[in-house]
Formats: sequence, structure tokens, C-alpha cells
Amino acid sequence: MNPKSLLDDFGIAPKKSLGQNFLHDPNALEKIVTTADLMPDDFVLEIGPGTGTLTEKLARACRRVIAFEVDDRLKPVLDEMLVAFPNAIVFYNDILEVNIARLFHAQPYVVVANVPYYITSAILRHLLESAHRPKRLILTVQQEVAERLVATPDDMSILTVSVQFYGRPQIVTRLNPAAFWPRPDVDSAVVRIDTYDEPPVAVPDEKTFFRVVRAGFGQKRKQLKNSLSGGLHLDSAEAAQLFEETGIDPRRRAETLTLTEWALLTTAFIALES
Ligand code: SAM
Repeated sequence: MNPKSLLDDFGIAPKKSLGQNFLHDPNALEKIVTTADLMPDDFVLEIGPGTGTLTEKLARACRRVIAFEVDDRLKPVLDEMLVAFPNAIVFYNDILEVNIARLFHAQPYVVVANVPYYITSAILRHLLESAHRPKRLILTVQQEVAERLVATPDDMSILTVSVQFYGRPQIVTRLNPAAFWPRPDVDSAVVRIDTYDEPPVAVPDEKTFFRVVRAGFGQKRKQLKNSLSGGLHLDSAEAAQLFEETGIDPRRRAETLTLTEWALLTTAFIALES
């Protein structure tokens, strides 16, 4: 059903501050569900079910949908939309407050979400850094964010490194603002991220890896010799040793580095500290 008339019936106006742009294009909804490759036994975590249009399609395709919606004004809408789907449960909580590892225990799960754009990075971090990561994620995000997720060296960002450390992102399709009501100001894209069992590069310690990456990207467009020595509090002899050991040119910038090079820097930094 058209989200505008549905919400009008319940006297609810969409809240821009919660990223409420409801997807109503049937082809886009179908594409998201087929991209999720769901099996009848699968568990799905949905973030922001909104009016329940996608939730209903997911519930038809899997064993159980567990959805978190922060806006409890939508409860009567979701109750009505999902009345025939007892395998879809909605909790009215902020997803960022949910302990996902505790929710799913050892149960594998897939994330499907047309995410509220104002917290895309926080949601990605929350899911990928969880002690129990999803098998895969099918996310509708801003086109510009989708491009950052799949970026290659020269255009890397801290978001690219953080996501590609945990999984392989692909852009599945692009969505025009007309696929949503109200129309967002930006183009969107559906991305699929297949998570790895093990990170694609070996690092002695994940926390230190991200400390080095954060330091590298800490000062925008600066050469690594400046960003890393500033961010990691290295004197010039220590910084020189880091670049000599790794063979990485200290004049390069963070956005040009591969994951392997970040891992090399991490190993060399740990050796320096010990
Ligand atoms: N899934 C629906 C669809 O595809 O039409 C709605 C998508 S809309 C872009 C984002 C939804 O996320 C809204 O329903 C919004 O209320 C909800 N939301 C926003 N912040 C949230 C949060 N922190 N936790 C859970 N849901 C949130």
C-alpha cells in the first residue's frame, strides 16, 4: 500500500529527523528481497521497518524477522500490516542500544535494512564490530556512501577500510528518489556486504589496527609521516623506522593505502611499542 495514504489513515506525518523516507517501488522491494538470498530457515534482523512493507516480504521468505523501530508512533501501522505474519516481531528500540550478540546468541542471521541515512556509519560499526556479526547485510544507503564502501586505493576512507576489513561490499542497484515517499534529496543504492569468517588481512591485534587507521586518516589529506606521527605520538626516529620496516613511502596519503599496507603498519607499530 502507498505509504502516504497508509500514514494519512493513521494521522502520522513522517519525521525527517528519523530518516523516514519509505520505499514503495515494488521492483526495488523485490530486488532487495531476492538479493538477500533468504532460505526458509533464515533469521533476519531488520532495522527501521517503518510501515512494514519490506518486513512483510521478508517474513514471507524466512523463518523469523526481528525488527527494531525507534518510532513507536508506527506501532498501530505495523500491528495492522503484520497481523498475518506472526513470525515478524517488532521491538520499539533504538538499534544502536541493542546488544546484537546477546539477541542472536549463536544463531546465524542476515541484516536487511533501508537504513535511516543520518546514522548509516554508526549502524555499520554497530553491526560489524559486534561479537556476533551477520552473515550478510543488504542495506539501502545513500549512493555516495555506497561508493565509499566499495572504493579502491586512492579513494579509500576510514569507512571503506572499516567495512572492507569485515566483509566484501558490492553495489547491487541504484534507486531513484522517486522510489521513496517522501522523496529524499539524494540518490540511493542497495549494497550487499558478505562478511568474512576471518579478516582478509592478518593483524596481530584488531584494536591496534583501527588505532593506526584512525591516526592515518586523522588529519585530512596529510602525508602519512605527519598523520601517523601526530596520531600515534611517534618521534621522528620512530616514524622513520615504521616506514623503513614496511617499505611504505612516508609522503603517501591515507586514502591510497591498501588493507595489506595498513596491516603492515600495524605490525611494525606493535613491534616499535614492545
Ligand atoms: N523500512 C522502511 C521502508 O523501507 O520503507 C522504512 C525505512 S526509513 C528510511 C528508516 C526507518 O528507520 C524509519 O522507520 C525510522 O523511524 C527508523 N529509525 C530511525 N532511527 C532508528 C534507530 N536508531 N533505530 C531503529 N530504527 C530507526
